[in-house]
Amino acid sequence: MVGVYLLRKIVLLTVLTGSILAKHEQYKGWKSYFIVATTNVQVQKLYEVVENLDLDFLGPILLDREAVVLVQPKYNAGFMDIAKKLGIKYWTHVADVKKALDHDDEVMDDWCAGRTNHYPYNSYQPLNAIYDYMAYIENKYSKTVRMRIPKVSFEKRPIRYLKISTTNFLDESKPVIFISGGIHAREWISPATIVYAIRKLTEDVTEPDLLNNFDWILLPVLNPDGYEFTFIHDRFWRKNRSVNSYHNKRCPGVDGNRNYGILWRTVGTSNNPCSEIYGGNKAFSEMETQVVRDVFREYINRVDLYIDMHSYGSMVLYSWAHDGSSSNYSQVLHSVGVAMAQAMDYYTLANFPRYTVGNSAKILNYKASGTAKDYAHFLGVPLSYAIELPGLSNGTQGFHLEPKFIESIGKATWAGIAVGAQRAKKFRSGLKLR
Ligand SMILES: [Zn+2]
Repeated sequence: MVGVYLLRKIVLLTVLTGSILAKHEQYKGWKSYFIVATTNVQVQKLYEVVENLDLDFLGPILLDREAVVLVQPKYNAGFMDIAKKLGIKYWTHVADVKKALDHDDEVMDDWCAGRTNHYPYNSYQPLNAIYDYMAYIENKYSKTVRMRIPKVSFEKRPIRYLKISTTNFLDESKPVIFISGGIHAREWISPATIVYAIRKLTEDVTEPDLLNNFDWILLPVLNPDGYEFTFIHDRFWRKNRSVNSYHNKRCPGVDGNRNYGILWRTVGTSNNPCSEIYGGNKAFSEMETQVVRDVFREYINRVDLYIDMHSYGSMVLYSWAHDGSSSNYSQVLHSVGVAMAQAMDYYTLANFPRYTVGNSAKILNYKASGTAKDYAHFLGVPLSYAIELPGLSNGTQGFHLEPKFIESIGKATWAGIAVGAQRAKKFRSGLKLR
């Protein structure tokens, strides 16, 4: 018996070690498809079957634009049946998701191996590299930069942001620009664009007016637990990693962008902890959303522009997400959104689609409550947006936006941020919601 017990232990150990060492094993047999909905009914039907078939769309579904969806082996036939029944065009993106992820890793390794100067704004880097860069910037530019660590995450990682100001935030006449990223863990391009913005306000200042005339709060990785998890365990993890009641131990994680206290958990969200859009067990249950809420509490009278960075889809989205109605500032939101989009399009590469600008519920045919941009707008931030950055490089080999595009997307996004800031200042006197 002892022998059998030992053997079992060895087998178990081998299986466990194997599962840790072999990367992306959980995606063996998965496939991904391009899918194009051409009517609003098709879009709505697709959203209706997401939970039944555990479909995972890597970006929002937009009419007549290719979306990519991940499909588990057990739902593959069901997915194809439904797509055919609804008359929705689909074709294979990658036939073997695990292999494509391995390919992505190789591309990334090659990219890093080929250069000595890789930084979190020109390659995908783990959390500690981003935090090291932020600490380096704080140290080197101590006159203008202060690091803040208001809270730690569920797994006890610090949530950090930089405050950048030539007047230490004391000049109350200056508008505050607040940009957060990385609430959705797998959207790796989002933190990179915010690190790029940090660089443009410190190491590589080409628009001194942006540094002198505004105060900046830049938070690249709002969800550090999830971000780290995507590097080590699961490339497609989206939520954070919290377990906040007995019922979600099996399925950890809350979607931070459904956890804000604005019509919390009413539409486009889920009370099922296993869902990718689980809103948590109460509004602001999560450290991540509390950090953003507290920044607004401190500076609500001065934040004129807030951007929450996501990927992917090339979209500038504004309120109201919960019902598609227009805010009192929809005209200004739209015109500034278009100006930002045009600036980003100017620098974007030919293989990415042009930005689409609009009310998120309307252009996506998808309503959502408890989102960051709606919460900020509800509090009185006049210009509040979610930006879906470009993604996927049109490739059929992998899922990363190729690392060679990171810096150019940072540059394009910075151009959009710069225009947004300048417009915010220009319209300031006429924009007071509060
Ligand atoms: Zn997102």
